[in-house]
Amino acid sequence: MPQDFFHTPLTFLPSVGPRRAKVLAEELDLYTYLDLLHYFPTKYVDRSRVYTIRELRGEMPYVQLQGYIRDFKEVGEGRKKRLVGYFSDGTGTIELVWFRSLSAIRHLYAEGHMYIIFGKPVYFNGAYSITHPEIDDESKAEQVSGGLMPVYPLTEKLRRAGIASRQMRQLLYILKEACLPHIKETLPEEVIQRARLMSYAEAIDQIHFPESKEGLEAARRRLKFDELFFIQLRLLSMKRERKTLVPGLPFPRVGEGVKGLYASLPFDLTGAQKRVIREIQSDLVGGKQMNRLIQGDVGSGKTLVALFSMLLALDNGYQACMMAPTEILARQHYASLREYLEPLGIEVGLLIGSTKKRERRVLLEGLATGSLRLIVGTHALLEPVVQFHHLGLAVIDEQHRFGVVQRSGLWQKGESYHPHILIMSATPIPRTLAMTLYGDLDISVIDELPPGRKPIETYHQSESHMYEVYQFLRAQIAEGRQAYVVFPMIEESEEASMRALEEGVRRYTEHFPELKIVHVHGKMKPEEKDEAMRSFSSGEAQLLLATTVIEVGVNVPNASVMVIEGANRFGLSQLHQLRGRVGRGASQSYCILVTGNELGEEAKRRIAIMVETNDGFEIAEEDMRLRGFGEIDGTRQSGQQLSLRIANPALDGAMVQYTRELAESILTEDPELSLPKNSLLRHRLQEIYYERPNWSQIS
Ligand code: ADP
Ligand code: MG
Repeated sequence: MPQDFFHTPLTFLPSVGPRRAKVLAEELDLYTYLDLLHYFPTKYVDRSRVYTIRELRGEMPYVQLQGYIRDFKEVGEGRKKRLVGYFSDGTGTIELVWFRSLSAIRHLYAEGHMYIIFGKPVYFNGAYSITHPEIDDESKAEQVSGGLMPVYPLTEKLRRAGIASRQMRQLLYILKEACLPHIKETLPEEVIQRARLMSYAEAIDQIHFPESKEGLEAARRRLKFDELFFIQLRLLSMKRERKTLVPGLPFPRVGEGVKGLYASLPFDLTGAQKRVIREIQSDLVGGKQMNRLIQGDVGSGKTLVALFSMLLALDNGYQACMMAPTEILARQHYASLREYLEPLGIEVGLLIGSTKKRERRVLLEGLATGSLRLIVGTHALLEPVVQFHHLGLAVIDEQHRFGVVQRSGLWQKGESYHPHILIMSATPIPRTLAMTLYGDLDISVIDELPPGRKPIETYHQSESHMYEVYQFLRAQIAEGRQAYVVFPMIEESEEASMRALEEGVRRYTEHFPELKIVHVHGKMKPEEKDEAMRSFSSGEAQLLLATTVIEVGVNVPNASVMVIEGANRFGLSQLHQLRGRVGRGASQSYCILVTGNELGEEAKRRIAIMVETNDGFEIAEEDMRLRGFGEIDGTRQSGQQLSLRIANPALDGAMVQYTRELAESILTEDPELSLPKNSLLRHRLQEIYYERPNWSQIS
């Protein structure tokens, strides 16, 4: 059967039709047989067990009960009208409730007849009830062999279009029966043997209709393997291709730029910085194009490492740029680079959205002629009018905020060659996730903070003890320190967040009439923001109140306290980023997490982790566990690009590692996948990724 069979539109599936097909497309993004076949259940309900009504207590999962309907009754009026069936099993009675098709339901089921019912009991007003239960005649009670019934995530619109849980199972059953004979193996026999995998067709069968817990486990393992293995195979072959085929500009010369910076530093580089600079340098002399990710906690000295790399480009006659995700961060980089570079007599430009026309013209001309060798900016750097004379290196800060497409824009800045790319990320991500998201990049880790930094002490304080927080701030400020107070993003709305900030400004001004307090938020004019930041940086203002805009980039070593109000509203990595704003000077620093008294389990856990540890990688691992893959700051988009249906690189770490090693060994033996035994792999890669031709040219 041709490939086309799987691309058959769902309207051709018996019992779907145009209306249901439309809803499936709109609600679940399912268009073809293949889409639906790959719509895996998110959980399974054990139907091997029949409960008794007496056993129901507290919060219940989906249960199965056996008994009879004693009586029906219609209650309520108009739109609130519903049908209630009183269902007994000899140990008690519960209510079955229907809001739709009342008379049809009533005719469908006979009073006094034995049924198996299935649904989620909800306790309300002293009794349990199940809304829209599934009901089967007792005689054909359990067709779900093994007792594991798949549950598919559905929406209200689907239910209204007549696709509830049961119908979805029926659709998948019909589809599966039609497809099974055509499903082809995706992996070569050798790989299946080596990894001891179930066949692909059997996995598809078992994931939707498991015969046993073991069968389901094997199916999940097989399908996760497929996803992770092909990602690794692709990433590693991209990486190989680039390393062997794409030429890079060689930077053999260490000149006055690098030497000058080295000589002018008032401190020694940390061991980790030296190691990473060596790694970068060996990339840059090699004649191959560099794609490297530097990971390191806030304050670990990434920017300085990036500066060394940029100066190496300059020493070899090329230009370099640094791209930041926000204007504030770009300005901050610009300011700190200038501080390093001014003594060396090296000019650096700043190009952001708000750069004035005349200034912009001068910058653009400098870049085009090559007289301006270094520039910092935002995505404004990607605009076509920005032409470099000879761009040798692009540094991208906090890359997860840029789309892959934008990164490819920088890549194209070098007409006939690719500039080297260095990506800095202050969001530590667990190793196996990094292997999945950035598996085609080389990764360097700065796992050491500059010496003399005292670990930040973190405390949790409830709102009702705010007075103590104020007292603490007062004492710190009396010792000459400064403090940040951050207010949470509320419901993703800039307005609501600003109101929280304004309320905060009033409150703090009232408590500290003697202090100079400044504040910043995302909607401020750049000049106002600058003025506030300048006043805080210079020590004139003691308190800086802000929405989360200070998350990245701000560097004021004298600030020793970070108060985070509504800390329960922040994600773990965000809290960690914010905390990283203090602890930059020589004095002891503190982070105070303020919350209400009532906290959910997850929020409690987040706060506890923050209080326990300062280690960004540990926090990242925990964040991933709490939130699941795809919800971590910035990785959502990447997760979508990977279009994972079943694997979770954070939780399936061992599988990531295993598939990577296997892919590596296959590519070592057969780099082009040209051996007959690997032709399946080559075809499958093309099939999965052909619609993204640009991938191999990105990042
Ligand atoms: P990151 O970019 O990783 O957040 P930065 O490069 O901005 O870190 O460095 C944070 C601060 O630490 C800066 O003030 C920088 O000058 C300083 N710094 C960097 N490396 C060292 C070092 N080896 N010793 C002392 N201070 C350092
Ligand atoms: Mg930095």
